[in-house]
Amino acid sequence: MVGDNPASKVYVKNKSKACEKVGVEFEEFLLPETTSESELFELIDRLNEDKSVNGILLQSPVPKQIDQNKAFRRISEEKDVDGFNPFNVGNLCIGNDCFISCTPFGVMKILEHYNIDLEGKNAVVLGRSNIVGKPMVQCLLSKNATVTVCHSRTKNLKEITKNADILVAAIGKPKYVTKDFIKDGAIVIDVGINRNEETNKICGDVDFDDVIDKVSKITPVPGGVGPMTIAMLLYNLVKATKQQN
Ligand code: NDP
Repeated sequence: MVGDNPASKVYVKNKSKACEKVGVEFEEFLLPETTSESELFELIDRLNEDKSVNGILLQSPVPKQIDQNKAFRRISEEKDVDGFNPFNVGNLCIGNDCFISCTPFGVMKILEHYNIDLEGKNAVVLGRSNIVGKPMVQCLLSKNATVTVCHSRTKNLKEITKNADILVAAIGKPKYVTKDFIKDGAIVIDVGINRNEETNKICGDVDFDDVIDKVSKITPVPGGVGPMTIAMLLYNLVKATKQQN
C-alpha cells in the first residue's frame, strides 16, 4: 500500500485477517505517500523474485506520481492474485485460464452457488471500472448472458436497467438504485460499498429496503459481495501457489 488512504487501510486489514484465519502468511509493506515509481517497482521486483511469496497485491489507489496500470503490469502474472495485470485481463477477455479480478469472480461464485442460469438472460452492469465493471462484463459474457454496460454518460439508464434479469450495481453512489430501476423479479447484485455520511453506516449502491419487494434475489451490503471478494482472493492465492509448485 502506498500512502495513507483510510478506506484502503480497512481493505488491507480485512485481507490480512482473512489470510491469518486460513493460515496464509501475510506481509504488509506500507510505503509513504511520496514513494517514487522506481522505489515501488524495486519492491515489486524483489517480491516477484522471492520464491517464498506466492501472491502480490498492490492496493489501489496509488498516489499520482505512480502510473497504476504500469505498476499492475510490473507484478508477475503468476503472482497477480488480484487479476489486474493486463496479461490476466487480456486472457479473461479471450476466455483463457487466468486470475480473474476478485470482485467479479466473487459475483460469479454467488450466482453459481444459487444455480442461476445466465444463458440468454439480460444482464446489465452499472459501472465500467477496470477492477469491477469491465471484468464483470467479460465474466457474464462467458456464461452466455446478453450483457449491457452502463456508465455515467449513459442515457435513459432506467429504461435499460428495467430490462435486466440480472442487475449488477458497481457505481459507488449510496442507495442510487431504487425500485424504479428494477424489473419485477430481477436478481440484484450490489457491489457498492459506501459510507452513509448521516448514519456513518456502510451501505450499497442499491436502496435495499426500497427494492426488496420487487426483486427475486438480492445481495446485502455489508455482507454480500465484499466477503466474497476476499474469499476469491484466497482462492486465487491457492491457485497461484499450486501453479508455482
Ligand atoms: P469507480 O469509481 O472506479 O467506477 C464507478 C463507475 O460507475 C464508473 O464507470 C462510472 O462511470 C460509473 N458511474 C458513476 N456514477 C454513475 C451513475 N450515476 N450512473 C451510471 N454509472 C455511474 O468505482 P469502482 O468500480 O472501483 O467501485 C464501485 C463501487 O464498488 C464502490 O462503491 C466501491 O467501493 C465498491 N467496491 C466494492 C468491492 C467489494 O469487494 N464489494 C470491491 C471494489 C469496489 P464513468 O466511467 O463514466 O465515470
